[in-house]
Amino acid sequence: GIGAYEAADRVLHRLEQAGYQAFLVGGCVRDRLLGREPADYDVATDAVPQAVQALFARTAATGWKHGTVTVLHGEQGTEVTTFRKEEGYTDFRRPDRVVYVKDLRTDLSRRDFTMNAMAEDRRGRLYDPFEGERDLAVGRIRTVGPAPRRFREDALRAVRAARFVAQLGFDIEAETEAALSAVQPLLRKLSVERVTAEIEKMWETSAPSSAFAILWRRCLLHGLPPFYRWEFLPRKPIFPLKCLDEGATPEERWALLLFQCGVKPEEVIRKLREFRLPGRTVSEAGAICRTAADWPPFLPEERGKRLILDRGEETVRKAGRVARWIHGWTEEEQRTVDDRLRRWADEMPVKELEDLQLDGGALIRAMGRSPGPWVGRVLRRLLVKAALGKVSNESGQLLREGCRIGKSDT
Ligand code: ATP
Ligand code: MG
Repeated sequence: GIGAYEAADRVLHRLEQAGYQAFLVGGCVRDRLLGREPADYDVATDAVPQAVQALFARTAATGWKHGTVTVLHGEQGTEVTTFRKEEGYTDFRRPDRVVYVKDLRTDLSRRDFTMNAMAEDRRGRLYDPFEGERDLAVGRIRTVGPAPRRFREDALRAVRAARFVAQLGFDIEAETEAALSAVQPLLRKLSVERVTAEIEKMWETSAPSSAFAILWRRCLLHGLPPFYRWEFLPRKPIFPLKCLDEGATPEERWALLLFQCGVKPEEVIRKLREFRLPGRTVSEAGAICRTAADWPPFLPEERGKRLILDRGEETVRKAGRVARWIHGWTEEEQRTVDDRLRRWADEMPVKELEDLQLDGGALIRAMGRSPGPWVGRVLRRLLVKAALGKVSNESGQLLREGCRIGKSDT
């Protein structure tokens, strides 16, 4: 199939051919100037959505209310948005209505930061009315127009500023930074989905701690849904914030964030649900928290192996990295734990029920009992025994041992 850039370029070409203005805008222009691979290419045009729809064979009305049509080329979708301004932010979260406009500059002026308010045409000409390129060159995050007003219009921009610090390693310009301190009371009206989306983007970076340092220092976290409803949220993070950077997966980072915020292990699942995360993320992060929370200061071999069998090798390893902060292990001690887990997992001849040389049917026939939950219980116990080397993974032996266990299981 064709690449994302090529798809966007075809869109620009077609719009221009039809006599419209068309530009790449926003994050993709910023990333191209930085020499980074853009996450996606957004197009802005003076053509209204109906006109865009009429020009292309395959489109989807993904954000019709906001003037956005997605144009499809094979697998590639390009979001095309009509130039617009946004009017009447009465509730500090979303504009009351969008108004289409004819000029690029007005469209760029509604955007959050100067580095995100640039456009580029097909010939590579840059449109940069707010000196975004200069700010990019010095690594500076600055609002388009007065920061207090821009944050009042949409308080999520404060969270986005923190997210871009983590993503790009930039600093926030002084007036923009100063305006952050007034944003806290405006944050609680944000939809939790928008907040979660920004946090998830922080997890994609190598330095989420730098974003959370700002959120914490400026007391923004204490205003954000769902955090503001947590009456116990500490004034300061519990562990060094840097721990967030060490988390190797988003789930570990969610787990670390919740511990940072003083959430008790038994509360973790409920708190994670408040972010409206996918069920898989909630259960995975929850399992990491639970395993990390009851990690003993020293984990003996047999207990470690049982833990791996019970929770799965991956989860236990992630939990080990989280437990580091609970117990204050050094990097060296952390490595020792990790090496041990790997060795134990490698040593175990079986790790899952599928690895056992015995299935439920054979056990049921040998016992002459009717099928029921007892079968699973016996197989789990056999698995542990085989994994710990207390019985060999051979069908005859497993069957004999299984019958012995089955007789005492009623
Ligand atoms: P990423 O590389 O993470 O996608 P991005 O800058 O493209 O970063 P998006 O959320 O995809 O971020 O938004 C696309 C563009 O829309 C931004 O570059 C910016 O111009 C504009 N934008 C997004 N959110 C806001 C907002 N809350 N207020 C003003 N402009 C915004
Ligand atoms: Mg983007």
